[in-house]
This record gives sequence, C-alpha cells and structure tokens, in this order.
Amino acid sequence: MVLKLDQQFNISEEVIRYSAEQRKLYGSLYLKALKFVNFKCIHYISDKHLYKGEGKAYIILPLNLNEVHNYKEHIFAKIPFNTNYNFTAYIVTVTYNKDYKMNFLHCNCQGWKDKDNKGEFEPEGVMCSHSLALKLYWKAKYFENKLLKGLI
Ligand SMILES: [Zn+2]
Repeated sequence: MVLKLDQQFNISEEVIRYSAEQRKLYGSLYLKALKFVNFKCIHYISDKHLYKGEGKAYIILPLNLNEVHNYKEHIFAKIPFNTNYNFTAYIVTVTYNKDYKMNFLHCNCQGWKDKDNKGEFEPEGVMCSHSLALKLYWKAKYFENKLLKGLI
C-alpha cells in the first residue's frame, strides 16, 4: 500500500503520546523532540529570573496552535503547531556534576520523574523528549554558528 505524503508525515500522529485506555505510549520520542526545535519552543531563561535553582535553565514551550506562551508573566514567541498537543511548559536545567565531571540535565516533566522513580536515571541526561530536544537544539546552534562563520 502506498501512502500519500500527508498520510506518511501526519505531524499529530508521529508525536509520542500516551493512551490511557491502552496504558502505553505511541509515536516517536525523537520526532517529538525535533518538533520542539523546529517550532522554536526552546528558550534560555537563566537571564530572565524565572528559575531560582542551581545551574542554567531552559524553558520548553508546549506544542499547540498558539503563537506565544505566557510563563510567569513573560511572553515567549514560538511557531504555532498544527494541533493542540499540550499546554504545559517544562523547565530543563543544566548543572555541572563534579563527581562525573560533566553537565547533568534535569526536567520537571512526569516522564522524567517516572524514570527517576524507577531507578532508570541516565547520567547522560536524556530521559524525556524535552531533554533530548535541548541536546538537539544545542547541536543545531553549534552547526548554525559554524555555518555563519564560514567554517563549514
Ligand atoms: Zn521532560
């Protein structure tokens, strides 16, 4: 069977989601993470006094039809998604761990908490779509900067 292009790449279908009836996840965590990058949902917030904890902080805006997201009276611009996938922003923090000599990520979403509670903590830090999105965002920025400087 040959699918039409819009059937093969139905954005709302490919993003990972939870089915309460089936009690399992559907879709791709990686593609959801890419959506956060492509729809400009990632913003650095340590310079905006929105996060008082340790380390650097990034906000991951929700994927929905809105052009902006209001977080603690700060308005963040984003590209509207083609459906209202969610409305909650999450905070991913980056802190340096002296024992491991590397940066640890942490996200305040439920997926991260569930993995932490199950003892599935990963020092590399990718335990949810938000933390994966931040790593993809950094990679994209790194190559974008190299391109702008004529290095690639
Ligand atoms: Zn998360």
